[in-house]
Amino acid sequence: MSDDPRAQLLPAIHAARSGAASGGIPIGSALFIDGKLIATGHNRRVQDGSVIHHAEMNCLENAGRLPAADYARATLVTTLSPCDMCTGAVLLYGIPRVIIGENRTFLGGEELLRSRGVDVTVLDDPECTEMMTTFIASHSALWAEDIGQDATEGTM
Ligand SMILES: [Zn+2]
Repeated sequence: MSDDPRAQLLPAIHAARSGAASGGIPIGSALFIDGKLIATGHNRRVQDGSVIHHAEMNCLENAGRLPAADYARATLVTTLSPCDMCTGAVLLYGIPRVIIGENRTFLGGEELLRSRGVDVTVLDDPECTEMMTTFIASHSALWAEDIGQDATEGTM
């Protein structure tokens, strides 16, 4: 598997589309260790009624329990800028590198990640932005719920 960030984004996009196809929020994630794909995941708020399985959390869960030495060599890829919860998981497990598809529709904890020494790459990928723009336009209340806002507050 390639270490190229755009190549590493592809399985996360695939996971996002898979989540959307089952009626969910189109955000996907992938975990690589030493350039090898370990797991993917997608947001499961709709599918499981889960309040914690954002794409990144679901991906980490799917990867299973790993020793700290594995996380220390990992790259977490996500189609959307990670929220405070997912940012916290990256910091907790000491994941040194995060690749983000886009941060136009939602800006998460990138500044905190960088301040803690995490290598953050934002690809500004148009496919990721389009997935979220389309989703938010038709599911604004569901999206507000996922990022901890009242629907009446609007999205961003
Ligand atoms: Zn999150």
